[in-house]
Amino acid sequence: MRHPLIRPGTSSSSNLLDLIKETYMEESHDIVIVGGGICGLATALALHRKGIASLVLEKSETLRVDGGSIGVHVNGWRVLEQLGIAAELRETANLVTAFHDVWQEEEKSTLTPVRKELRWLKRKDLLETMAKNVPAGAIRLGCHITAIHPSDPGAVLTTPGGSIIRAKVLIGCDGSNSVVAKYLGLSPAKSTPRTFLRGFTRYPHGHPFGDHFLRLRGKRFFVGRSPITDTLVSFFVACHIPSADACHLLHAGDTRDMRATRHSVVQKLEGQCPAEIVEMVQNSDPESLNVVTKVWYRPPWQVAFASFRKGTVTVAGDAMHAMGSYIGQGGSAALEDALVLARSLARAAAGSGGGRDDEPCERTMIVGAATAIGGYVRERRLRVARLSLEAFVVGELLRAKSLATKLACLGILALLGTKALGHTNYDCGRL
Ligand SMILES: Cc1cc2nc3c(=O)[nH]c(=O)nc-3n(C[C@H](O)[C@H](O)[C@H](O)COP(=O)(O)OP(=O)(O)OC[C@H]3O[C@@H](n4cnc5c(N)ncnc54)[C@H](O)[C@@H]3O)c2cc1C
Repeated sequence: MRHPLIRPGTSSSSNLLDLIKETYMEESHDIVIVGGGICGLATALALHRKGIASLVLEKSETLRVDGGSIGVHVNGWRVLEQLGIAAELRETANLVTAFHDVWQEEEKSTLTPVRKELRWLKRKDLLETMAKNVPAGAIRLGCHITAIHPSDPGAVLTTPGGSIIRAKVLIGCDGSNSVVAKYLGLSPAKSTPRTFLRGFTRYPHGHPFGDHFLRLRGKRFFVGRSPITDTLVSFFVACHIPSADACHLLHAGDTRDMRATRHSVVQKLEGQCPAEIVEMVQNSDPESLNVVTKVWYRPPWQVAFASFRKGTVTVAGDAMHAMGSYIGQGGSAALEDALVLARSLARAAAGSGGGRDDEPCERTMIVGAATAIGGYVRERRLRVARLSLEAFVVGELLRAKSLATKLACLGILALLGTKALGHTNYDCGRL
């Protein structure tokens, strides 16, 4: 029987290849970024600022803005400055000046000033601001990369629809379940169960909470609340949510399920915590609600020793160092990755000109890119391993039952300077 791809008169191998190319769309790009989240868009924007084109492939049909808000510390703001979007984003979010910690059962509370810049941004604002600053056509939505094959240089990417995309340089910014990390031979990220409801509440006449981030710990719940603007707050409630056990029901935007989930959380909180907290959850915007059922992380020893480069293929952001929400640094660390990687590639590109014809020039560019990626991995390794360790230990401390484990965790965190937010002071330099 004739193969469906072989038409009469196309029996030679070159004709067959042409036909395959014709049948399955094939294209080639210098730099391809898989994933259009914080890291992917920041990398594309950083490269664009250095005059280097790239193509972002994002599997969702729209930019994924679920997750509500994200706390960006001073290290993240330094990167946003370098990307040229800090001023615009500052207009969207107030400064947070202190952490207000309350331990309800112990009837204890503390106020810790935040001395450097910290703001909770709407993820939507962050992603859309980055997206509108990269050239039109640089982001392709609805493009799910399902497999990656080796190629020299770079890699070949395929989609379920049969598209073939050749990338001379491939950057995996595809989050904790990264297909690029898998191609590099990294073990899958680990997950730990942690259930919380997140969302926004609007106060049309202004909220009374000032500029403090509240962390309220009760017997069976933990509430976080951050002001975004004078009329908008973002919050999370960590507690057991029975309907989250059937988590397939809890998609963001599925407002019917979200209203039911919100109702069950309100019932849990009623009588257990101040009325203003219950009202905040009760009055939240159902469209903004979203439930997290597990948190992904890459263990610190993997981040410290894994191989993050194969030729001109690498990873950044959660694909490299998923660290959950424990120290609120995953997003800012992803921004740092983007800057350092773009800077390294730009230096390599600057040094690769001058070949006498296309072929040697391209080889120089590829060798330069591989070296640049090696430099990026070296520069980031210690920083992200340290952050991963810190996040991991905070997670262990929350789960710890024995006093010895708790003391060991607290000892490590004291050494790392977690309480004083030492990790936020990092400056990854200029683009
Ligand atoms: C509950 C929670 C709260 C957090 N709070 C904070 C905080 O306050 N501050 C902070 O700095 N960090 C925080 N983090 C961490 C932060 O959200 C992440 O570190 C950050 O979003 C990582 O960005 P990323 O672009 O690397 O990955 P992601 O945001 O996961 O983006 C990956 C993108 O790749 C796309 N993708 C995946 N696979 C493919 C594929 N095969 N083909 C094409 N596209 C693909 C996805 O659709 C997605 O858009 C929090 C995390 C959690 C879970």
